[in-house]
Amino acid sequence: MAIFKTQVVSEHEDGAISSAVELLRAGNLVAIPTETVYGLAADATEHCAVQQIYEAKGRPSNNPLICHVSDIEMAKSYVVVPPIAEKMMQRFWPGPLSLVLEMRQATKIALPVSAGLHTLAVRCPDHEITRQIIRALGHPIAAPSANPSGKLSPTSVADVKTGLGGKIPLIIDGGNTDVGIESTIVGVRAGKLYLLRPGTVTADDISQAMGEPVFDRDNSEITAPGQLASHYAPTAHVRMNASHADDSEIMIGFGDVAGNYTLSHSGDLREAAQNLFRILRAADNTGAQTIAVAPIPNHSIGIAINDRLKRAAAPREAT
Ligand code: AMP
Ligand code: MG
Repeated sequence: MAIFKTQVVSEHEDGAISSAVELLRAGNLVAIPTETVYGLAADATEHCAVQQIYEAKGRPSNNPLICHVSDIEMAKSYVVVPPIAEKMMQRFWPGPLSLVLEMRQATKIALPVSAGLHTLAVRCPDHEITRQIIRALGHPIAAPSANPSGKLSPTSVADVKTGLGGKIPLIIDGGNTDVGIESTIVGVRAGKLYLLRPGTVTADDISQAMGEPVFDRDNSEITAPGQLASHYAPTAHVRMNASHADDSEIMIGFGDVAGNYTLSHSGDLREAAQNLFRILRAADNTGAQTIAVAPIPNHSIGIAINDRLKRAAAPREAT
């Protein structure tokens, strides 16, 4: 694995877009801001470049990557978009919703992007500079979160540097991310919708907008490989639904439940999602053995927050 002096360039700096595009064209990785979390991008049509994503992250090769496109038209050249999917794209793109769709035959997408599946997850990020990078490259970018596999997702340049500094040549600095957790993933099969990963676009938001039910992933025949029980894991253990911290614990509060940190004083779930990974990192950096987390109501965006917390709290797989 090559060693780089990792350069950080502000998204507002002249030449930020062209530097990113040049590196991507030459088959390199670039960390890019999106509205969800920072992504580790490669040209999705370049096999060797995509392979480097798996290497840099230490990501299992059976965990497919999400392809980021600049617009609906670009998505249509790589996946088959049935009317129900197009309607969702029109309603929720650009935004934190990924759709798993049939890949077009004779697609130029490199095989490791989909980990060999015949479906592809596509999304159009709500981030102007990143969309401009994709547009200028002329190809989708494969971009999982810019962190070592299984660790906390990165919501700032400092987080990306901590996890991947020296492994990539460039980080585009877009400040702290807005949404704070990864995109909602919805699978579309035979005109039916399946929630494969919860996010800030909730199943209720989708079924209301579409007038269609959104089924659980358990009822889905769509394989969503790579969703490991333990993921987003800090060094410390995580204890959920805590009303207070024990002696060896550091406490993350929410709403009326106080803590050393709080996800949201006012009990706002959107704010809690935005703060989740930043605060988990801060709590972890105290060196506490266990992070106790206040109960998060399991509705709306709370479902996505609890999904991430459950994975952070799950027993760690030996690697
Ligand atoms: P990440 O890039 O880390 O946000 O993770 C992307 C997740 O999307 C993976 O863990 C998969 O579970 C899911 N995914 C990506 N592509 C597909 C696909 N073709 N079919 C089903 N799930 C997918
Ligand atoms: Mg990730």
